[in-house]
Amino acid sequence: MAETLFENASKRLQEALKYTKISDDTLVRLSQPKSTLKVSIPVRMDSGDLKIFTGYRVRYDDTRGPTKGGIRYHLSVAEDEVVSLAFWMTFKCAVLNLPFGGGKGGITVDPKSLSRFELERLSRGYIDAIADFIGPDVDIPAPDIYTNQMIMGWMMDQYSIIKRQITPAVITGKPLSMGGSVGRESATAMGAFHVIQTMMQKQGREPASTTVAVQGFGNAGSILAELLFNAEYKVVAVSDSKGAIYNEGGLDIPSVKYYKESTKELKAVYCVGTVCNIVDHETLTNEELLELNVDILAPSAIENQITGVNADKIKAGIIFEVANGPTTPEADDILEDRGIAVLPDILVNAGGVTVSYFEWVQNRKGYYWTLEKVSSSLKNYMVTEAEKVFSIAEENKIPYRTAAYVHALSRLEDAVSAKGTKDYYINR
Ligand code: GLU
Repeated sequence: MAETLFENASKRLQEALKYTKISDDTLVRLSQPKSTLKVSIPVRMDSGDLKIFTGYRVRYDDTRGPTKGGIRYHLSVAEDEVVSLAFWMTFKCAVLNLPFGGGKGGITVDPKSLSRFELERLSRGYIDAIADFIGPDVDIPAPDIYTNQMIMGWMMDQYSIIKRQITPAVITGKPLSMGGSVGRESATAMGAFHVIQTMMQKQGREPASTTVAVQGFGNAGSILAELLFNAEYKVVAVSDSKGAIYNEGGLDIPSVKYYKESTKELKAVYCVGTVCNIVDHETLTNEELLELNVDILAPSAIENQITGVNADKIKAGIIFEVANGPTTPEADDILEDRGIAVLPDILVNAGGVTVSYFEWVQNRKGYYWTLEKVSSSLKNYMVTEAEKVFSIAEENKIPYRTAAYVHALSRLEDAVSAKGTKDYYINR
């Protein structure tokens, strides 16, 4: 039987244990989620029919602080996926030293099949169902795949109605007018960009001679492609859920992004003002994009993209995981044998939750930061922790993923011990 996503996620922890000494208490605590909530959400559809949707909210571990993590709207949302995502959030927050544990939520739905009003009723209904389980000091949701600022705004509003108190710190990724933070929308991509830049500088590489393929053109992928383009990297391929476009000489990402935003179609275009012309390109499948001969591959879509089936066909020099869980453990082993380094999700995509932390701090203080302050603080967090992960990997000669888990585990271990361990009780 194929392994579940959570079994695969846990394997990374087992691997890290070979290189760090962790108490049994920490391991026991991290072996299963603290709580898993499954809810039914009744929604009145525009047709007048009543439809029930299934939602989840998982709090994986709160030893280091209130749980934190996004809410995903996707047909693939199921308990195993949400638990795995909450597990990754626990380690991600520890890698970045944010005072949070890990959580995640989701609704099993194809959001594109709903009208705007149905989407709003579903989002408010989800908060009605989970309101007793979240809160600024308990569990703080945020956006994830197919959720955005507007949805976070509805959710904060619904929570505030239920509590009869305006509570911006219950959710992050909100619209600016409802207590959102400047720089949150671009934070995941910006964080990934800082990790890429730190690694490229370490390797003495120049952007202009570095080719990149980005899988996924959502919030993270599209903004990352643009940041890399602006920094003069040669972005040769990008894709959305329907397929990829490829141009050996590089794509004009601002034009591609403008065209996708205005027409919803991903096309290799060059635009002057609002006039866009198709340029020379090849169309590829998402699978073919992953196998391109590029210097950098940035899977920025969804989990399980690089697996035992295609890992031996990957030709990229280095992989930066912008999505959560795009590489399976089996693929990790194959890539390692082939000398392809993988920079892990729990470091690379942590910029989003880092600026979520800044947003939560601003909400609690009632004092809002400038973009300069958000941007420089984000850079500082990302570069500092990336360098720590790089040195753990080099000192122990272990893959970057294992190094990131070792780094996170030492912080989780400190928090578990601070609350009292077996030794502490027995020796009293
Ligand atoms: N969904 C994002 C992630 O997977 C952001 C979570 C947050 O901001 O809390 O990291």
